[in-house]
Amino acid sequence: MTTGESFTPVADIGEFGLIERVQQRLTAGTSTDLLTGIGDDAAVYRVADGKVHIVTTDALIEGVHFDRTFVPMRHLGFKALAVNVSDIVAMNGTPRFATIALGLPHNISVEMAEAFYDGLDEAATLYGVTIIGGDMTASQRLVISVTVIGEAPEERVVRRSGARPGDLICVSGDLGSSFAGLKVLLDQKKRMEREGDAFKPALDDFPYVIRRHLRPAARLDLVRGWEQAGVRPNALIDISDGLASELHHLCKQSGTGALVHAATIPIDLETRHVADQVGEDVDTFALFGGEDYELLFALSEDDLERLPSDSFTVIGHFTPPDEGIQLKTPEGGTIPLDAQGYAHFGG
Ligand SMILES: [Mg+2]
Repeated sequence: MTTGESFTPVADIGEFGLIERVQQRLTAGTSTDLLTGIGDDAAVYRVADGKVHIVTTDALIEGVHFDRTFVPMRHLGFKALAVNVSDIVAMNGTPRFATIALGLPHNISVEMAEAFYDGLDEAATLYGVTIIGGDMTASQRLVISVTVIGEAPEERVVRRSGARPGDLICVSGDLGSSFAGLKVLLDQKKRMEREGDAFKPALDDFPYVIRRHLRPAARLDLVRGWEQAGVRPNALIDISDGLASELHHLCKQSGTGALVHAATIPIDLETRHVADQVGEDVDTFALFGGEDYELLFALSEDDLERLPSDSFTVIGHFTPPDEGIQLKTPEGGTIPLDAQGYAHFGG
């Protein structure tokens, strides 16, 4: 390293800090067709009068995002597409096309690659996506990069920035189950390393949470339901890094505060059992555990009756910005809710 040249570790500023810094260096794009650029779940640009395309890209890296000892290739293929579809859904769009780039290490066989693409194809069928191309290259470890292109009528697009004080904070499905599944799988891996050949996997006790971790579903069904009901949330994000972190994104970009009632956060019984077994607080699973890929959205109170009540849960409401982001605990106290979800660079 040249003396005098500064070296700032990425962990010092974190993933979001780095995105902000590189964004300032990208000065070339001046297209007036760009409606939403860096900083939302996906980018949105106009392709025709009243019609937009929505584009997202995400990389999954072996050893960072997944561990091949307990992630079957078929599930990995399914998940790689589903998590990108989730970002299109998080703009209230419909996914259409995808490209796949793979970095393949020597220890991946043809059969394993085929299983990966079978999983991709399964997700593509489920979400109505056509895979139109990609790239393959040699790599030190398995690297998966997926780009999905979606579309929407311009007036249907929902950004992170539209929540207003008084709006209801809503989530789909249940939270913390993917993290619980990861806990079970990591525990099994530890036992496998300890017990060697004598090891017998015991995964039958927690089938739901394991599936939630290995094969998360994108909530395209909700977006379709909103369209049918003629409802459009005011703000929307998918929960990839944990409820607390995503709520901070919505509040920051909308200029609001929030009050969440911890007791109302939907948590599956199986998730509670895993938390009990490992002696941890299940609320931390739901607030800070990532990869649930459920939707977090702001809904006007007037729209509440227009949606099927079993499709989401109200967990609080948005407040004026000076009230901050607060959590009402089951004991009745109110504490500030930190964003400390999953930090990609250990920041
Ligand atoms: Mg997202």
